[in-house]
Amino acid sequence: MDELDLLVIGGGITGAGVARLAARNGFRVALLDRGDLMSGTSSVSSHMLHGGLRYLEHLRLGLVGESLGERAAVSRMAPALVQPRRFLVPLYRGGRLAPWKLRLGLQLYDWLAGRRGLAPHAMLRPREALALEPDLAPEGLLGAGLYSDVVMDDGRIGIAVARDAADHGAAIHTYTEVTGARPGGATLEVLARDRLGGGERSFHTRTLVVAAGPWADAVRAMLTRSLTPGAPEPPALLRPSRGVHLVYPALTRSHALLLTARADGRVFFVVPFSDRALVGTTEVEVSSPPPADAWRASPEEVRYLRAELRRALPGVAGTAPLAVFAGVRPLVASQAEVGRASREHHVLEQHPIYTVIGGKYTTFRVMARDALAPIARRLRRGDDRLADPEAPLPMPLGAGRAPDAIAEHAVAREFARRLEDVLRRRSALWLAPDRGRVAATVVARVMGEKLGWSDERRREEIQAYESALFEEDALLDRAREDA
Ligand SMILES: Cc1cc2nc3c(=O)[nH]c(=O)nc-3n(C[C@H](O)[C@H](O)[C@H](O)COP(=O)(O)OP(=O)(O)OC[C@H]3O[C@@H](n4cnc5c(N)ncnc54)[C@H](O)[C@@H]3O)c2cc1C
Repeated sequence: MDELDLLVIGGGITGAGVARLAARNGFRVALLDRGDLMSGTSSVSSHMLHGGLRYLEHLRLGLVGESLGERAAVSRMAPALVQPRRFLVPLYRGGRLAPWKLRLGLQLYDWLAGRRGLAPHAMLRPREALALEPDLAPEGLLGAGLYSDVVMDDGRIGIAVARDAADHGAAIHTYTEVTGARPGGATLEVLARDRLGGGERSFHTRTLVVAAGPWADAVRAMLTRSLTPGAPEPPALLRPSRGVHLVYPALTRSHALLLTARADGRVFFVVPFSDRALVGTTEVEVSSPPPADAWRASPEEVRYLRAELRRALPGVAGTAPLAVFAGVRPLVASQAEVGRASREHHVLEQHPIYTVIGGKYTTFRVMARDALAPIARRLRRGDDRLADPEAPLPMPLGAGRAPDAIAEHAVAREFARRLEDVLRRRSALWLAPDRGRVAATVVARVMGEKLGWSDERRREEIQAYESALFEEDALLDRAREDA
């Protein structure tokens, strides 16, 4: 590709969404990620495609209504990767949430969803709530609210969005890290490093979209250093926070749970996902740009989630978590307390550089439209109309396929370049009882054949995957010992 209309830095859901919309509207676009697609925040979310019931407490009706519309649209585009769920909200004597407030919130949530709504809410008596989920703590239970939302496969929807972009002409380069830029007349020359194959690459582009999630401040500082040496570092736009999840065997009969932590009154969730339950999350402020260890869960966070789960579901208190993962929220800097920071997004226009920050996974299409509209206006002399069809996204192989078929498809069609890309983000193999250790050998063999790996490279890939699992296990053990 010669001269690009836009180059997107970041292959999370935000960057993939921008690349898809740009490609579908005829722009010449390339997307670069320093790692795998969705290897940042976009595969470690709470997996909810949701309006965000709790944002109603802060009366963010616009954000909730818009998100509910997107919940419906994305569900139509990727039906195999989403699952409507009933969420149970138990109410306890002396709890933070008053029954009238919950009832009102659920009524409003249904009303905002309107015709796009799922099964409507209900208020339950204690006996009814316990009949649905018998492991709930019975003492002081006043009843429960019941409402509908959607659970999604965040990693795989994101990859499907990137595939849709590629199917419409976008060039996708993973493991390609942007390291600098040079002005070049009417275009920018963007420099990048291939982190797997080695070597430098350069791209000429009329505009640049920074969709680097929690790395946005780091990327902006790097671009400033290379484009205007000696200029002061740009001020931080983000106030990121870490959120940790534990993965358990299924914990409920079928419901997701919205719970209030006794320790600090925060909301946390139990989300059924792929025969497992995700329990999270925490909220620990980290600096921006985040240091490398910002992505590491602490034993305190693991203990906090375990203790709250024991209180909420004493019936499953003995169950041990199978896995732990952490992500960093790319929240827009604000004066608000970290847990109350806005989930809205901003696009900072500094032509030819456009930076997208904040937002949620659920509203990625809205973010893409807001980022691309000013670029379209510039490049098409005032015309910012964008077609954003709700056409189905390319779907992954169906469930139950063997690891070798999954690996082959992932390399041929889904941009996988490392073993972990297949085991963690293109399959549920990492959730298997052995965490995908047996499948790893088969997947590495097939990937090696397709990608020309040496035996040593194949061993290194398996070793790297095993080491990551070992670290997770060590953290879970440490949290248990220190308890
Ligand atoms: C714990 C947690 C729970 C959440 N739960 C939900 C939820 O249930 N529902 C919801 O809607 N939202 C949720 N969110 C929010 C949502 O996950 C994020 O807003 C979204 O994933 C951010 O996507 P992104 O593409 O902006 O960032 P990322 O996914 O982090 O992508 C940024 C990409 O930029 C790349 N990059 C960085 N530097 C460079 C460089 N120099 N060159 C090339 N590439 C680079 C990175 O490798 C990365 O892949 C949650 C977030 C967290 C942390």
